Parts: sequence; C-alpha cells; structure tokens
Amino acid sequence: MTPFLPGATIGVLGGGQLGRMMAVCARQMGYRIVVLDPSARCPTAQVSDGVVVGALDDVEAARHLAHQVDVITLDTEHVPADVLAELEAIVPVRPGARVLRTIQDRLVQKQFLDGLGLAQAAWAPAGDAAELAAGLARVGRPAILKVRRAGYDGKGQVRINEGPEGPSRSIAADPVAQLARLRGEPAVVEAVVPFVREVSVVLARGLAGEIRIYPIAENVHRRHILHTTRAPAPMPEAQRARAEAMAVSVAEALGHVGVMAVEMFELAGGELLINEIAPRTHNSGHYTYGACATSQFEQHVRAVCGLPLGDPRALTGAVMVNLIGDLWAGGPPAWQHVLAVPEARLHLYGKYLAAPGRKMGHVVLLDDDAERALATAESLISRVSRA
Ligand code: AMP
Repeated sequence: MTPFLPGATIGVLGGGQLGRMMAVCARQMGYRIVVLDPSARCPTAQVSDGVVVGALDDVEAARHLAHQVDVITLDTEHVPADVLAELEAIVPVRPGARVLRTIQDRLVQKQFLDGLGLAQAAWAPAGDAAELAAGLARVGRPAILKVRRAGYDGKGQVRINEGPEGPSRSIAADPVAQLARLRGEPAVVEAVVPFVREVSVVLARGLAGEIRIYPIAENVHRRHILHTTRAPAPMPEAQRARAEAMAVSVAEALGHVGVMAVEMFELAGGELLINEIAPRTHNSGHYTYGACATSQFEQHVRAVCGLPLGDPRALTGAVMVNLIGDLWAGGPPAWQHVLAVPEARLHLYGKYLAAPGRKMGHVVLLDDDAERALATAESLISRVSRA
C-alpha cells in the first residue's frame, strides 16, 4: 500500500493532549493536521492547520473532516465505532471501527481477552441489580463496578466494599446503591486485585503487522489517575518477555494499526493480569517523548501513514509525573522551578480551565537514576504549587 508521505493531511478525531502531542510531531515531519472537536480552542486545535467544530458522535461533522484529509486517526477511543465505519467508506481510518468495537465497551473487551486466554481480574456483567448480585457472588468482595462505556481515570467507577450485611451497612458496601450511582449505565463488576505494582506495555503495530515495543513502564496511580511513570520498569527478563508477549497477542488479534497500550496488574507471585487496553498513544508512554529514539507520537504518525516504524529504544531512563488541575488551586504554578532542573522537560496542554482531577500537563525527568528522579518529581510538584 502506498504510504501517506509528509505533505499529506492527517485527520484527528478528538482534540485532547494526545492529539496535540501527535500533531506537534506530525507537523515537525511536514504533515498537515485537521482535528474534529466540540471546541475550536481544544489542545489539538491550537497546534493544527484546521479544525472542524462538532461532537465526536456527529456523523455529518466527521464526514466533513474526512473529505479534507488523507487518513484519519483518534485521540480517544470514545468515538462511536459506527461513526468510524461511516468514515471508512471515505478514507482509511487507523485504528478502524473493528478495533474500537472491541475496545470501547468494557464487557466486549473482557470477552475478547477471555477468548484469547489472557489473564484478567475475575469479572461479571452487571446490567441490573439481579445480575450484579449474581456477579458479586462470583467475583467476591471487595469489587469495583465500572460503566461499560466512556469511563476513564476512575470516572464511572465505584467500589463495593466488604462491609457488614444488614440495615447499618454503609453505602460503599451496598451494591444496589452503588449501581444507582452510575445513573443506570450498564456496567461490569470485577474483583479488586491485590496487585504489587502496575505496569504498561506501549507498542506500535504497523500496516504490514510489524511491531515495535517500548521499554515497559511502571505506573503509580493516585485517586485512579496516573501519578508517576518510571521506565524502564525494573523487571526480570522472563517477566518482561511475558508482558510483551501478552500485549503483542492483543495487538495482533485486534489487527490494530498505530500505537496502543496494555495496562497490567502484577501480583505478588509475578502473575500478570490485563487491566485494560488503550488503542492509542498513552499517558504512560509520554516519557518516550524525550527519552526514546522515536516518541510514541511520531511512531503513531508513522504507523497510521504506512511508513517504516521508528526505533523505540530508550536513550536514557526516565520518570514522568502528571500535572493535575489541583496544582493550580493557588494560582498559576511557578514553572521556573521545573525549568531550573537540567534534566526536566515541561509539557503543558494549553487547557484553559484547571479543574481538579484534570490532566493539565506533565514533566519528564531524563535520568537513569529512577529513585533520584522520582524524588525530584515529588519535590518539584510541591515547589511549583502556590497553594
Ligand atoms: P481503570 O480506569 O480501569 O484503568 O482504573 C484506574 C486505576 O484504578 C487502575 O490503574 C488501578 O490503579 C485502579 N483499579 C482499577 N481496577 C482495579 C481492580 N480491579 N483492582 C484494583 N485496582 C483497580
């Protein structure tokens, strides 16, 4: 298949920070970018050649974008698969509707992983109270209820604790009350996993099926949001190979094209369970921009344009820390403290509103000494805050 060479136009569905960082890399390579987003001032639009203002489920707006571009990709997996299927009749869409249909519904994603024989937390459908009761009997407590669609960063998730049965039981222990908190959205319930750590495999799969794998990232979440990533994760060779093999089998079974991430829980005995799949560039891969020969964003451009994939090798160890909206509580953070650190790279996403829990940017520390870099990251976070 003929590649889309620099000079071609890439359409991006969704205008968040992932699209923005991809657009920066794509434009550096000589591509043009047009983005579809409800806001003309979204992070990606700020660095694009054009913007189509519209909702991600607005087929007419998406068609309008498709007619201006050579190939389409995604900033988010929450674009309805049916919209992608419509666009596939106009231009190549990578990843396509088939991948999104499998990923964007947690229930279908879990069935897909079961079908591949890949380990994950015990789970069950929880469409209504009766199904939830049966599901809880199967997976046990504590458990987590997750909406099937459109959840992210812990949104659309509630925990069901062990708690006493009877009239005095707490809301967190009452499955029906928890289901109600999800406002009637169909959900799945899964066992809380006693993981010792979380890791993710970020890889790219090209048009001809070739695969490039980045050094595995070790991730720490706070309040369900990624807080820090360190890479490479210290991991025995055999463990690394198993994690990579699991992620590769997911990418191949999906027929994915582009960058994708597979998040995993590691148990005390070393067993790996897949938490979730993201068919796009990923927060835990932000460190690659600066630390690796080819960033995940350039790699994604290469994959969706049908070009040879780049070298994913790390040139240095790295730590990434997310900058969450809460940091803005006392006014704009004092970025000069970050910029005074030679190994620090500051990325801000151009978001106008710094809401609590919102990802506003991140800092990457290029340092082979991960413990030192993690300590620097924490001290920077406290120093930039004016609260
Ligand atoms: P998710 O949005 O499903 O990736 O969840 C965000 C984070 O919540 C994960 O990275 C974990 O830290 C935590 N989490 C989600 N599901 C589970 C689970 N079944 N057991 C333990 N922790 C979980």
